[in-house]
Amino acid sequence: MGHTDWIRRAETADFEIVNIVDGKDVRPGGSGGVAKRAPRTGEAMYDFPEGCPSDVDRAVRSAMAAFDEGRWRLLSATDRKAVLLRLADLIDRNRDEFALYETLDVGKPISLSLAEDVGGSVAQLRDTAEKADKIISPAAQDGRHSAFMQRKPVGVIGAIVGWNYPLSLAIGKIAPALAMGNSVILKPSEFTPLSATLLAKLALEAGVPPGVFNLVHGRGDIIGAALCAHPHVDLISFTGSTRTGRRIMAAAGASNLKRVVLECGGKSPFLVFEDWPPADLDALAATIVAVAFPNQGARCTAATRLLVHQDFKQDLVKRVVDHARRIVPGDPLDPATAYGAIIHEAHLSAILAAITSGQDAGACVRLGGRRHRFDHRSELSGGCYFGPTVFDDVTSDMVIAREEVFGPVLTVQSFRSDDEAVALANDTDFGLSAYAATRDLARSQRLARDIRAGGLMIWGTATPRFGSIPLGSEPHKQSGFGYETGFEALLGCSVATAVHVMS
Ligand code: NAD
Repeated sequence: MGHTDWIRRAETADFEIVNIVDGKDVRPGGSGGVAKRAPRTGEAMYDFPEGCPSDVDRAVRSAMAAFDEGRWRLLSATDRKAVLLRLADLIDRNRDEFALYETLDVGKPISLSLAEDVGGSVAQLRDTAEKADKIISPAAQDGRHSAFMQRKPVGVIGAIVGWNYPLSLAIGKIAPALAMGNSVILKPSEFTPLSATLLAKLALEAGVPPGVFNLVHGRGDIIGAALCAHPHVDLISFTGSTRTGRRIMAAAGASNLKRVVLECGGKSPFLVFEDWPPADLDALAATIVAVAFPNQGARCTAATRLLVHQDFKQDLVKRVVDHARRIVPGDPLDPATAYGAIIHEAHLSAILAAITSGQDAGACVRLGGRRHRFDHRSELSGGCYFGPTVFDDVTSDMVIAREEVFGPVLTVQSFRSDDEAVALANDTDFGLSAYAATRDLARSQRLARDIRAGGLMIWGTATPRFGSIPLGSEPHKQSGFGYETGFEALLGCSVATAVHVMS
């Protein structure tokens, strides 16, 4: 599809935002809606609902009934797998519509929505579905005493997700929960409700029984908070900021001691060691730019702290700036665009405040730092755009080096030894991901041992390859805990009973 086709589809897109409870469309409650402005143009697109706590209660009761009656949990795992694989096929068949929703809601380029958001979601759902009937639990015998572990779904799972990859984050929650036989209530971000509505409808079409996958829209402090405080929700699986993660833990503790899985913020380092061949430095700079500024910088795992051996620093920073300069915001609906809009004005203001704090602290802006404006005659002139920004002369005590910006902002620091590199990398409250460029095997092993992060990607080649092996990984420190991928994600949505039989 070309640029004009996407624009035409956007003009006629259907913005249906309904709750889905017990398999039926239900209008969200609450006093009204809040205007959603298109990140691309700044124009009003639709009103998103605030919701009210009784919406949550209704959904929880529906989920409990589905669970108690065994509509889903008592199917065989192979049957649940077949339904989830059907859902993956349906998402794939509706890929253009999903991609359009993600681009309109988030402001991300349509090419990225198609490849990463929809393509990635379909792959993740298929992978998780395939694991549903491959969980084997231990059994043991001791004379006349035998025992086995009965693994069961937890019950009712509340899934609360952020706005940066709406479909993909929702799949990360619902796939393991449904694979294990739980009932789910999904609460998408109030800023990105469109794709979740389509997802919940397709789940019914795929054969997920009514009440097993409910959808409730609304604001975090109303709907999200009600879900976390509800006495009959057994687990909250959350993806969002560390600040909200703290509130969720507090609400879980204050209510029924529900379990929590938290996938929160990050401030991930990219370490470049002195064994890196100078001839490959430019290719490495391109890779660093690719992992620093994906999705307009709104990716939890973005490498936002470049830590480089001092011998290389000047040369590498110049090349990183040269590559980043080539990234210019473009129309998200143009298939040729690789970098789009920022989700809303308030988020852009927060990014600009972070830039000011860095400058006030004495860091030097080597690139960017200012809002990107399109010509006033362009349809995009009212949109929300901000290009890659690089800060040099940064020290670890600066707020710009410590707090997550969740925008396209890279800070640079240097080190002289491996000890210093590891210390700098770990000098953060977060522990989501880390990246390193080295060809030294012993050094790689040391990093694997000492870096406190849930994911570590080591480049031994200048070719910017990205991994797609769905190993489970768990955030460290204030980036959260629990799993969204791998068998561990499914196990995390289950409880076990140790059954002893004396004969
Ligand atoms: P956010 O914390 O503001 O909101 C996330 C979700 O929580 C939304 O649905 C929101 O409505 C809800 N919420 C807000 N207040 C709540 C409350 N009191 N109780 C219950 N729910 C509440 O985060 P965001 O701005 O939507 O997303 C950006 C953040 O998400 C960043 O910090 C980013 O790093 C993080 N993130 C993490 C991962 C990961 O896998 N670790 C992935 C994507 C995004």
